[in-house]
Amino acid sequence: MIDVNSLKKRFGSNEVLKGITTKINKGEVIAVIGPSGSGKSTFLRCLNLLEKHDEGSIKIEGSDIRSMEVHLRKKVGMVFQHFNLFPHLTVLENVTFAPQQVLKVGKKEAEKDALELLSAVGLSDKADSYPSNLSGGQKQRVAIARALAMKPEVMLFDEPTSALDPEMVKEVLQVMKNLVKTGMTMVIVTHEMGFAKEVSDRVLFMDDGRLVEDQDPAIFFENPRTERAKAFLEKVL
Ligand code: ADP
Ligand code: MG
Repeated sequence: MIDVNSLKKRFGSNEVLKGITTKINKGEVIAVIGPSGSGKSTFLRCLNLLEKHDEGSIKIEGSDIRSMEVHLRKKVGMVFQHFNLFPHLTVLENVTFAPQQVLKVGKKEAEKDALELLSAVGLSDKADSYPSNLSGGQKQRVAIARALAMKPEVMLFDEPTSALDPEMVKEVLQVMKNLVKTGMTMVIVTHEMGFAKEVSDRVLFMDDGRLVEDQDPAIFFENPRTERAKAFLEKVL
């Protein structure tokens, strides 16, 4: 579904992606793991055209990502560490905004879809609340519903639980687990190693702009092949 070939990205003279090559298959759940500054967020942002890569290619279902900007927005949903909800819109308006603006869905239909999604993330009763009146876990669940409202084929998550108080991590991970069960293709940057081990089909371990291991999670967590992955896991586990 996504074909990444020799992907490079620089910020000025700082090369932060140094040639990433991997494939993401339909229905796969990929955990992206690695130290801070290793290029995980930049990699995800390139997959969603939030950053433009300098060299190499990204193809989504065979089409070059650079030739499909508007089209791509509908295919790839993204959830950020800091939620990025629209503060001046209600929960329902947050979820219905993009389907109406981008997909030109009518208001009634967008609201019907949104209420179903809010129910699926356990927030039916918050439709008319504003983000400022929600907990972090609730905000992140709205952000997931909002991304799903665009009916994406792939969901990207950039440390979706890192900004949450510990007691709220579980509710967000549970929503993500439910999404895994639907067969959604997911790429998840996370420091939740237990979660990554439990739900992922593959682990991408990044270090210093390189994809150091592209590995089965059972092998990665029990017996990583590289010294760099071993050293990282010793620090975080
Ligand atoms: P990670 O998500 O693994 O912590 P990032 O992809 O955020 O890593 O960052 C990788 C490197 O790219 C870091 O050195 C960071 O400072 C740099 N970087 C990220 N975004 C920008 C940007 N917009 N401008 C300049 N440098 C950036
Ligand atoms: Mg990051």
